[in-house]
Amino acid sequence: MTDIPPLEREIRKRIQAAGPMPISEYMALCLGDPAYGYYVTRNPLGASGDFTTAPEVSQMFGELIGLWMAAVWTQMGSPANIRLIELGPGRGTLMKDAVRAMQVMPAFREAAVIHLVEISPVLRAQQELTLGGIGMPVYWHNTLAEVPQGALIVVANEFFDALPVNQAVKIESGWHERRIGIDADGKLTYTVAPEPMPHADIVLPPAARNAPLGAIFEWRDERAAMELGRRLADERGTALVIDYGHAESDVGETLQAVGRHAYADVLSTPGTVDLTAHVDFQALKRAVEAMGVTGFGPIDQSELLRGLGIETRAAKLKARATPTEAADIDLALLRLTGFGRSDMGSLFKAVAFTHPTIGTPPVFG
Ligand code: SAH
Repeated sequence: MTDIPPLEREIRKRIQAAGPMPISEYMALCLGDPAYGYYVTRNPLGASGDFTTAPEVSQMFGELIGLWMAAVWTQMGSPANIRLIELGPGRGTLMKDAVRAMQVMPAFREAAVIHLVEISPVLRAQQELTLGGIGMPVYWHNTLAEVPQGALIVVANEFFDALPVNQAVKIESGWHERRIGIDADGKLTYTVAPEPMPHADIVLPPAARNAPLGAIFEWRDERAAMELGRRLADERGTALVIDYGHAESDVGETLQAVGRHAYADVLSTPGTVDLTAHVDFQALKRAVEAMGVTGFGPIDQSELLRGLGIETRAAKLKARATPTEAADIDLALLRLTGFGRSDMGSLFKAVAFTHPTIGTPPVFG
């Protein structure tokens, strides 16, 4: 066993001791194991990393979200103290660009304190560098629950897709939870739980009822969504969640591994590639709303960014750009709002949540 990487050895040990492992436990270990997890050991973002996100595509993304936050703050009655919370801030780029755009509303900047919820020590160090010169207080936390109380505005871009999912597979005897075991050659392999899931027809969405044999249904632990809802309801807040996923709960396998900008195998190199799964926005909304807040959307990322004026912003940036820079701005605009296969315009969606006294957030009306 000496040639087996340490995280895989740990996973095999757990399976040998306790039996096949739920997909969510595997995903949580691969991403967040304190010693060998993907997010704990590397900086996954950017051209030299494994994937590129919207704030890394263009400064316009964070700037427009900064303007959205400023409008929301006004809508909330301009509270004298406001916590700007970002879940999973990556390199800190979105927040840096947002803060620059907020200069149009100095009173908002004065009122705001930044709180970043981040598990990765590597990315925390990067965020510290990125946000070092912004002239606003910044604090780091491991979970949203650790952020001190107070009125809040939350943003999360590509955060929920990184939270662990479970899977169930439909076989002749019903829906069974899918798990990860060890095959005859000693490799990690998918297995199914021996017993069908209890109450599957109640737990699964109507779309799953007529699914063919072999169909897979994915669901997330809802604690993070419920914690978000609780904070917004208890302390009066607004949140914007952007991610890729589907508007309605449905069957389909979306768990994927990505390394070096290419798809990889989920089971073969645990901890060295990014694992994500689409966000089920219907389930996310239900979990957040259950805590007493109002949900809006999902709307396409294209609609969100156009509604916030991305075209005007792009034209303004182009007016003082070189021809090469102007071409880059056009490319970024297309990538963020277009509908092609590699564009983010409709694959990515946005939902917003508010305390019931706040009203409809900008662009969601
Ligand atoms: N929002 C950034 C980064 C997206 S990648 C961007 O758009 O560029 C996902 C981010 O969430 C990373 O910063 C990762 O370290 C963080 N993350 C993943 N799981 C987390 C968890 N359980 N708790 C806190 N942060 C987490």
